[in-house]
Amino acid sequence: MGMDFKLTEEQIQIRDIARKFAVQEIAPLAAEIDESSKFNWPLHKKMGELGLIGMTVPEEMGGGGLDTLSWCLVIEEIAKASTAVSNYLTLSESMLNYISHLGSEDQREKYLAPIIDGELVCSFAMTEPNAGSDAGAIQATAKLEGDHYVLNGQKMFITMALQAGLFVVVANVNPGLGKDGIRTFLVPKNTPGLSLGKQLDLMGIRGTEAAPVYLEDCRIPKENLLGSADGFENVMKGMDGPGRLGAASQALGLAEAAFDAAMAYAQERSQFGRVIYTFQDIKFILAEMSTEIEAARGLICKAAWRRDHGLSYTKETSQAKLFAGKMCVRQVSNAMQILGGYSYSKEYPMERFYRDAKIHQIWDGTDQVQKIIIAKELLKEMK
Ligand SMILES: Cc1cc2nc3c(=O)[nH]c(=O)nc-3n(C[C@H](O)[C@H](O)[C@H](O)COP(=O)(O)OP(=O)(O)OC[C@H]3O[C@@H](n4cnc5c(N)ncnc54)[C@H](O)[C@@H]3O)c2cc1C
Repeated sequence: MGMDFKLTEEQIQIRDIARKFAVQEIAPLAAEIDESSKFNWPLHKKMGELGLIGMTVPEEMGGGGLDTLSWCLVIEEIAKASTAVSNYLTLSESMLNYISHLGSEDQREKYLAPIIDGELVCSFAMTEPNAGSDAGAIQATAKLEGDHYVLNGQKMFITMALQAGLFVVVANVNPGLGKDGIRTFLVPKNTPGLSLGKQLDLMGIRGTEAAPVYLEDCRIPKENLLGSADGFENVMKGMDGPGRLGAASQALGLAEAAFDAAMAYAQERSQFGRVIYTFQDIKFILAEMSTEIEAARGLICKAAWRRDHGLSYTKETSQAKLFAGKMCVRQVSNAMQILGGYSYSKEYPMERFYRDAKIHQIWDGTDQVQKIIIAKELLKEMK
């Protein structure tokens, strides 16, 4: 099983569809999405029509049946235009991954198609005020009462909560068991007992309408349990795939957007009677940026390739997410340096890029959490 660095015709085709859509339809709206902090439904629906949602869901379940690498290429292209919009895709694919892998026939029947079509947004409600990195310590409970589970708890930082029609909620069926009691549940938005807090006033990715989610005696039919007994393992495994690789690809796309802007500016701008690209300091920054961008791409491609070939990809995915997130923050900052004062004005996208970058070191597991995962995998390999 060799590793081919050439993209297939199909991969190029789907990447180009995403690139065209990003340049023509997302980029002109990106600043407005950020400014208004509003989820953009028309763009989301169009991405559904273009087949960009559910790309990795098997064809027999109504998805695109495409490989992970194709999907990463799409996220990268969309993220070059808007990190927020690329996250619509990442979250959707991640939730589709949960439902297609763990869901019952009925659950798949009911929820896959509307998410894939871009008609339904599904949010992931795991984090709590007292349980972030330590996801096994969540306090939300799901008590079985007859034919229903009764959910109670508070969820924090839930991306797209304000537009979601469905939530994958992580709760504990038996707190006495610790993380072994953790399960996932499908909770439709209109379920009595589920309410939303105020939209969070975020630094970046402002078009994602994140909010807290409250569960107060929220009763759902017991059939809404997603997956079976090994809940916590499933939750963690589910984050490995499109979620974390999507976050890494978003970081890559954003760094590239910053690089493109810096490269162009360095050749337009003159100071001391010279184009600034001719200063060694400036061209060395750009040389380093492009090298680190390629390194991130290499890690993402390798993790995606391993997933597509049925090989373990947990370590590689965390390595890709860790490196791409840090690289993105570093390189957007470098790009700002090249643009000088103009990078600091809201008239240009660079300040949005800067605000959008940092999240990639925080969500889907912070840098420290990725290191914990990598170290655990290294030990496994040793054994
Ligand atoms: C914009 C945004 C959107 C989000 N969207 C979602 C969502 O849709 N759904 C969802 O469930 N969650 C979401 N989150 C939550 C996100 O996943 C958490 O913020 C993240 O996992 C970190 O948790 P925390 O913020 O509680 O930080 P903490 O876990 O309290 O961490 C604080 C610091 O301590 C470090 N730390 C913690 N444990 C260790 C350790 N063992 N060793 C070394 N260092 C450690 C962390 O790395 C971090 O630097 C979102 C967050 C943000 C900001």
